[in-house]
Amino acid sequence: MPNAVNSFNVPGHAESMLALIVDRDDDTRGMYAEFLRAAAWKVEQAADGREALAKAISLRPGIVITETRLPGINGFDLCGLLRQDTVTAGTPILVVTGDAYPADVERAHASGADAVLVKPCLPDRLAAEMCRVLSQSQEARQRAREAHETVTERLLHAEDALGRSRAITRKYNLKLTHKRGDTTTPPVTPLAFHCPACDSQLAYQRSHIGGVSVRHQEQWDYFACPAGCGTFQYRVRTRKLRKVL
Ligand SMILES: [Zn+2]
Repeated sequence: MPNAVNSFNVPGHAESMLALIVDRDDDTRGMYAEFLRAAAWKVEQAADGREALAKAISLRPGIVITETRLPGINGFDLCGLLRQDTVTAGTPILVVTGDAYPADVERAHASGADAVLVKPCLPDRLAAEMCRVLSQSQEARQRAREAHETVTERLLHAEDALGRSRAITRKYNLKLTHKRGDTTTPPVTPLAFHCPACDSQLAYQRSHIGGVSVRHQEQWDYFACPAGCGTFQYRVRTRKLRKVL
């Protein structure tokens, strides 16, 4: 028996080594308690539902073993209340009941019991079921941990992607930063024109860069007639030369 008993210990989880036994019958509690202590579990006991709820929330046992027939809060309601409390929502619950009707077993499961055993239930049967429930619960915890890691990983990826996207946006915005104003080195090389009035070669003076954005950039080139006919403006977009002064 010691080997079978040791198989449902959970090393490294001090709080998991505490079992809460809930039964109004002193002898039943005593039997299970003695058995669990022999398997190196710490044991707390409660004779009614209220006491059980208080102890479960304050002591955080690794498993709750409860009868359904309890004074005050019955075992079904106890299961439901334990499942509703964030502290005990994940605590394995093993129901050991004298209610042998299928409807009662079904109700215990529906209330949140991980396993339901019908009395008479000897300690070795209890041990086998505890072993099963605890390993299931460990698997669930492992799955939850893996799920958490996946979520964390995804968050890191998302942050990374967000950072990259911000860098790209910044770069793009820099590119989009629209330099307006006058320049003699415009994006579009100014053409050569002759004065519409005297046919002299116009002298390039400067360009003006404008428009609402880099993608809607506009360029106006300004020329002067060396013969004094005036200043001419060439609009690159419309390819029109006109006299402005
Ligand atoms: Zn001219």
